[in-house]
Amino acid sequence: MILKKWEKFDKVLLIEPNFPIPNKSLNHKDFLPIGLLKLASYLKNEGVEIQLNRLDDTFQSNIDQFNFQPDTIFITSLFTYWSEYVKNAVNFCRLKFPNSKVVVGGIYASLMPDHCKEYTGCDEVFVGICEKAEKFQPDYSLVDVDYQIIHASRGCIRKCACCGVYEIEPEFKFKKSIKSEVFSRKIVFYDNNLLANPYIKDILLELVELKKRRTILNCESQSGFDGRILLKHPDLGILLKKANFVNPKIAWDGPVSDSDDIKRQVDILVNSGYKSKEISVFMLYNHDLSFEEMEKKRIFCWEWNVQISDCRYRPLDQTYDNYNPYTKKPQSNEDYYIHPQWDDKLIRTFRSNIRKQNICIRQDTLFYSADIERKRVSKTIAAKCKKMKFNDAKIHIKDAWDPDVIHYEINDAKIAK
Ligand code: SF4
Repeated sequence: MILKKWEKFDKVLLIEPNFPIPNKSLNHKDFLPIGLLKLASYLKNEGVEIQLNRLDDTFQSNIDQFNFQPDTIFITSLFTYWSEYVKNAVNFCRLKFPNSKVVVGGIYASLMPDHCKEYTGCDEVFVGICEKAEKFQPDYSLVDVDYQIIHASRGCIRKCACCGVYEIEPEFKFKKSIKSEVFSRKIVFYDNNLLANPYIKDILLELVELKKRRTILNCESQSGFDGRILLKHPDLGILLKKANFVNPKIAWDGPVSDSDDIKRQVDILVNSGYKSKEISVFMLYNHDLSFEEMEKKRIFCWEWNVQISDCRYRPLDQTYDNYNPYTKKPQSNEDYYIHPQWDDKLIRTFRSNIRKQNICIRQDTLFYSADIERKRVSKTIAAKCKKMKFNDAKIHIKDAWDPDVIHYEINDAKIAK
C-alpha cells in the first residue's frame, strides 16, 4: 500500500496533467483537482513539503517553477478517454525528475489500473480513494477560487451500468452534518447522489439556517439530483430552494416513456420555487436510445421549458476521444466512440439541436436563428420577430429553426413531427 511509505517522504510534487480544459475554466467548480488538494493538506500535516503544479499546454513554462527535487510525484487522472494527457504528464516528470517515483491516482487509474501502469509507464497506480486524505479539508491556498467543495457522501446507492462510481467508491458512506466544515459563502457539493444521504434533511436544514444567517450565499450540486428520491420526498425540493441551491439538475437517462415521471420531478422543483428555465435535465446520448427517441425527449423538455445538459456517452474503458466539435470533415469510430445506433452526423445534429433549444429557453424565444445570433439580421427585425411564433417568424427570418419538431440534420429542410 503506497500510503504506508509516506512517512519517509520529504518532498512531494502534485501534478494535474494538461487536460483539455479551457484556461478560463481551470478554477471552474467542475474542474478543481480536489483529490490533490486533499492530499496536499494531508501531506502538509505529516510534515511533507509539497508543491502543486497544474500543467498547461506549454509544459516548458512550468519547468522554472519546479525548483525543488521531489522524492515522489503524484499525478491525478480523470476520464479514461483523457489517458493520453496522463501519459504525457508522466513522460514530462520522468524527463524532469528521473530519480523521483511517479504514482498515478484518480478516476482513470482506478478504473483501468493495468492499462494505466503499462500505457503511462508510471511506477505505481493508486486505486480508489485515499481514506487518510479524505478526512482533510482541501488545501484551497493552492488555488484561486471563491467557493468551497464539500462531499457530504461518497459512493452511490445505485449501480447504473454506464457509471464508474461503484468501481471507485463501492461503499456508500455519508456524513450526518457538514456545518462545521463550512467557511465559504458558496458551496459546491461533489456528491454523486446528494439526496441519497439518509441525513440529507438535516444537512439541508443546516444549510437553510446558514443561509438565513447570511453565512452562506448559495449552494450547487455538481451532479444531478436523484429524481426518484425527489418523487418520494418532494419536501426536499423546498429545502433545496430555501438553502439556495442554484441551477438544479435532474437526470433523464431512461426511455421517452418515462416522461410522466420526469415531468413530476420537474414540477416538484417548480412548485418549490424554481423557474422552469433554471432547471436542467441531464441526457446521455450516443447510447442505447435512438436519435429519434432522444429528439422526442428533447421536445418534451421544450414543452416543459427546461434546459438540457447533454452528455455524449463514452464507454468506461474508452482510452481516447478526439471528437472535434468544429471540424467540417466527418469523423469516425477511429476518432471517438460512436454507438452502433448512432453516426457522426446524428451526434453533431443532436448536439446542435440541444444548443439551439437551450438558447431559445434562456432567451424566451419560440424559434432559433443563427442569423439573429450572429447579428446578420438588423436589430429592428430581430426585435420585431423576438416574440413571434415559429410560423410567423419564418416569413421574416430565413433560417428560423423550430424546436417543436425533430430535426435530422443541422441545417435541414427535412423535418418530422
Ligand atoms: S445514480 Fe448517478 S452516481 Fe449513482 S450510479 Fe447512477 S449514474 Fe452513477
